[in-house]
Amino acid sequence: MKTVVHKFGGTSLATPERLLALVEIIKSRLESERVLVVVSAMAGVTNAFENLIGASAGQSDQARRLLCDITSAFKSSATELLSQEQSQNFSDILAKDQVDLEAILGSISLVGKCSEQNHDYLIGMGEVWTAQLVNALFKKSGIESKWLDAREILIVENRNNENTVDFKKSQQNLNSSIQEAETQATVITGFVAKTADGAITTLGRNGSDYSASLFGNFLDAHSVHIWTDVDGVMSGDPRIVPEVEVISELTYQEATELAYFGAKVVHLKTMLPALEKDIPIWIKNSFHPEKRGTKICSEKSDQSHSRVKGFTTIGQLCLLNVEGRGMIGVPGIAARLFGAMNDNGISVVLISQASSEFSICFAIPMSEKDKARDCAEKEFHREISLKMIEKIEIEEDCTILAAVGDQMVGTVGVSAKLFSALGKAGVNIRAIAQGSSERNISVVIKEEDSVRALRAVHSAFYLSNQTLSIGIIGTGVVGSALINQLQSEAPLLKKAHVDLRVRGLTNSRKMLLAEKELPLENWSQQLQDSAGPAELAKFVDSIQVDHIPHAVLIDCTTSETVASQYQSWLERGIHIITPNKKAPTFPIKEYRALKAEGKKMSSHLLYETTVGAGLPIIGTLKELIQTGDEVLQIEGVLSGTLAYLFYHFDGERPFSEIVKEAREQGFTEPDPRDDLSGMDIVRKVVILAREIGMELETDQIKVDSLVPPELENVSVDEFMAGLPKFDDQYTQKIKEAKARNEVLRYVGIINPSGESRVELRSYDSSHPFSRIKATDNIVAFQTRRYNQQPLIIQGPGAGPEVTAGGVFADILRLSRYLGSSL
Ligand code: ADP
Ligand code: ASP
Ligand code: MG
Repeated sequence: MKTVVHKFGGTSLATPERLLALVEIIKSRLESERVLVVVSAMAGVTNAFENLIGASAGQSDQARRLLCDITSAFKSSATELLSQEQSQNFSDILAKDQVDLEAILGSISLVGKCSEQNHDYLIGMGEVWTAQLVNALFKKSGIESKWLDAREILIVENRNNENTVDFKKSQQNLNSSIQEAETQATVITGFVAKTADGAITTLGRNGSDYSASLFGNFLDAHSVHIWTDVDGVMSGDPRIVPEVEVISELTYQEATELAYFGAKVVHLKTMLPALEKDIPIWIKNSFHPEKRGTKICSEKSDQSHSRVKGFTTIGQLCLLNVEGRGMIGVPGIAARLFGAMNDNGISVVLISQASSEFSICFAIPMSEKDKARDCAEKEFHREISLKMIEKIEIEEDCTILAAVGDQMVGTVGVSAKLFSALGKAGVNIRAIAQGSSERNISVVIKEEDSVRALRAVHSAFYLSNQTLSIGIIGTGVVGSALINQLQSEAPLLKKAHVDLRVRGLTNSRKMLLAEKELPLENWSQQLQDSAGPAELAKFVDSIQVDHIPHAVLIDCTTSETVASQYQSWLERGIHIITPNKKAPTFPIKEYRALKAEGKKMSSHLLYETTVGAGLPIIGTLKELIQTGDEVLQIEGVLSGTLAYLFYHFDGERPFSEIVKEAREQGFTEPDPRDDLSGMDIVRKVVILAREIGMELETDQIKVDSLVPPELENVSVDEFMAGLPKFDDQYTQKIKEAKARNEVLRYVGIINPSGESRVELRSYDSSHPFSRIKATDNIVAFQTRRYNQQPLIIQGPGAGPEVTAGGVFADILRLSRYLGSSL
């Protein structure tokens, strides 16, 4: 029969219910296995002992009370689970141990200090009691079992402040103890051990995983199972990254690397003894034993997207940077530096040396920072006084983020992807190290960025979807159309790994927020019934959350107040998409500041729909410029309303009548002067002009307003009533044009080397501008390349559906910028 080691962690032992689940797991194994059950202490017990030790030097009464709390917890589990006799026996054991422990506490309070030996003796007691409790429970459940105290078995030697296991002696001890009484199951304490000279010690916090693999090694076990409270080793810390996946297979080296960089699920040293005898380690969930778990073994798996297996972070570090020109070419500097750290017991977590040898930079625990600085300064005292070393700097509050995977070796682009994901999330990289094994790439970042960074890199590697947290501001016609389009398209996009999550809607009165995602089916009803009062700052805070790498605000208002917030949003790394023309026509200084902020924070401000609604006008212009073309002139019918008016105005009917008709059909603004003044077109002219680098302000555009000066300052009704008086002027113009076989069009003209203006012009009937339909927009780009024949973009340039479609296209553009492969 094969021997299998099963180790149960604190959460798998925490309550009577969990202990019964453990019994079931072991029972199901006994037919085919001889089991060694390694137990850690019930959850929280080791920490409770740490607290008790903390109190023991000063207030021995309090320490005693804390000890009683711990023993009572054990007693109550025993009463619930064991037979009366067993429970009594267990209580006797506790009472006897309690006497010993109280004596120790008394001596600690007497000397005012807890020695290392006493410390280790105390914190190991949780394991000792848990093992006996589990053993008794096994017996009660009909499992033939005995318990072993690892303090009599596992022998360690203390060398250079580190416990090294004496494999030979420990193996002999274990084998002889097990052989003594042949039982189906043996329960043994994890974590605790004994030194060669007989003192009680431990393998260090979380060390019972290590105990389990040591025992597996000694017994030549078939496998080691580590039972915990998660489904296996995950691609990221499940407490930080909400959408992690279970890694089905890892090599020993990968698992070691993940553990080294902070994946708490398995203790760092666990892999070594197993690797030596090629014993597979399984990480399994005691809450869901039916799940497969993670297998850690020597074979490389070829899982899909397995280049990077997982990401971890390790915090509370600082970076020490030693810099100086005098270091260049001088041999042995690094050796002396790290030698000095080692001599002072400072563990160096990561080293990154610039190839220039001009500086050496390494990460150490925050708690060691003063000691490290002192010992570096002492070591290089001479070099510092000779100015060969100019600076020893410490950067506090750093975190290492590590990407781990065997198959990163030779896979092109892994680091590029990692760095660009960090860049896009606005995370600054302080130092980089690539382990010589290339099994790991580590970057040092600021502690405050660590959650965002971990989530961003995790999603960049498709371990979770390319997810955008979207907030829509403004639920008018464009906003509504957009929501409806998102509702119908989002499920399809999810299949392409683009996860567009509308997590908030707001208008000027009310707002709706959802933690995960808003159901959009009946959003307008929800907004009416269950929404809270609108509060923009709160809205924005809820859209930008750490567990979703990218936040996007979509401003579907025409509000200046909303636009005035863009700067601060971009500063926070939030992306903005909008058909609102206010921001891109801000005074040039503010406009430039917006652009600069976006660049600095890698946050995008997209406003394709401010000109020509869904037509790809700004995008095309950008591409022309980026590919080295030069714009000579842009000319266009840029307003759907004015296109409509001059499409219908042919001199047969008076102009005022056509305005009235258009107004009644909702084709104009409520006050038609907003259209007729040409200001809307002026803004579009400015937006396009700025795209080609012209520094224009709206008041620098010459406008031929269609509003008669006499009617500028009257009410809307008076305006409508007064307009017919001016019909003759317009009729005159159309008649003259017609006589030349031309039509009238109200256009914007951008001229990089001259005057940009908005005016009524006439075009020959063969000109493309003459042949547009009702509310079409048309833009002609005359460039160095498109010189004889301008490049023309034409199509419906107004209306909620096409505008919303354009906004949607901007969302997809953004997701491409952020790394999706749409
Ligand atoms: P046990 O008490 O069973 O030893 P631990 O608390 O020591 O359990 O370790 C399991 C915990 O490790 C999980 O609950 C999880 O929160 C945390 N953890 C951190 N990183 C990872 C990771 N990459 N994969 C799985 N769990 C992780
Ligand atoms: N109980 C010990 C601790 O909490 C050992 C372990 O759980 O692995 O550190
Ligand atoms: Mg653990």
